[in-house]
Amino acid sequence: MSPFQRSTRRLLELSRRGELRQSYLLSGDRLGELSDFARRWVRLLACDFAAGRDEACGECASCRMWTGNSHPRVQSLAPTSKSREIPVADMRAFMQRFDFRAEEGRHQIGLIIEAECLNTESQNAFLKTLEEPPTGAIFILVSCRNERLLPTIRSRCQVVNLMSNEPLLDPSLLAGLQPLLALLRPGAGAGAGLKAADGMLALFKGMKERAAIEIEEAIAAELEASQDEEAPKKKDKDRAEALAGARYRSLRDQVLVIIEAWAAEASAGDAATRPHQVFSGEALSPLQSARLADLIESLKLDLGFNMNEALAVECFCTQAAKK
Ligand SMILES: [Zn+2]
Repeated sequence: MSPFQRSTRRLLELSRRGELRQSYLLSGDRLGELSDFARRWVRLLACDFAAGRDEACGECASCRMWTGNSHPRVQSLAPTSKSREIPVADMRAFMQRFDFRAEEGRHQIGLIIEAECLNTESQNAFLKTLEEPPTGAIFILVSCRNERLLPTIRSRCQVVNLMSNEPLLDPSLLAGLQPLLALLRPGAGAGAGLKAADGMLALFKGMKERAAIEIEEAIAAELEASQDEEAPKKKDKDRAEALAGARYRSLRDQVLVIIEAWAAEASAGDAATRPHQVFSGEALSPLQSARLADLIESLKLDLGFNMNEALAVECFCTQAAKK
């Protein structure tokens, strides 16, 4: 299974369980593939019989409206002009099609293809919507150049890396994690597991600080760029905290990506098939890798459900290194 298929399966799985966040940024290297998946996913989210399925039914009223290209609860936005820029007028028209007085219960979905084409004004307008979204709204942004989006937009979205090849791993996090993961050999024992857990929690602490600084700088830059005179201090502080939290979680997701890559390499037969070289040493047995995959799955769930972070990490590390 390719990394792209693996990640999209995970997304559909979350979607099946109804564990969705408010906004996603699907980032990758092939726009066609990304957009196709995004449309397939939106169609599934809108389907009346989506529960427990991976594909839209194709027959319900919602699916028929989709085929007719006029779904009242699905709005799309993409660059249309030659300049490949999405002007703020387009963004406003897009937002106006949402029902801000809708009742709870059904998704309203906004799909933005080539989100990096939103100009600064459009991005700022969209940011306001993300802060006070319409009821039940889910936004799905697709971009192959997400570095062009405001950091405050990126941090409000769950960033999903859908690379057609191997995922890009954050080099600084990779460097911090590698020696810790090296401690987690099956049979290394509880001591090694706890040492790895301590290291990982220290790394998380550093990531929290890094997230806070990044957001602080981004907000300062944004304030400087905007003409908005009234900048209520209290609201800014709350906003900064919420954004730093989101940014931190996306860094932590990156840690999980690295741990998954490490586990995938651990089960690969020889070193030549380990593109990132996160794992070194002898390959694990099929049973050991299955156990590891299971532990990673629990770690992801525990962190996703905001369980005590230290406990989740300790549990993962000691179980992985168990004698
Ligand atoms: Zn359907």
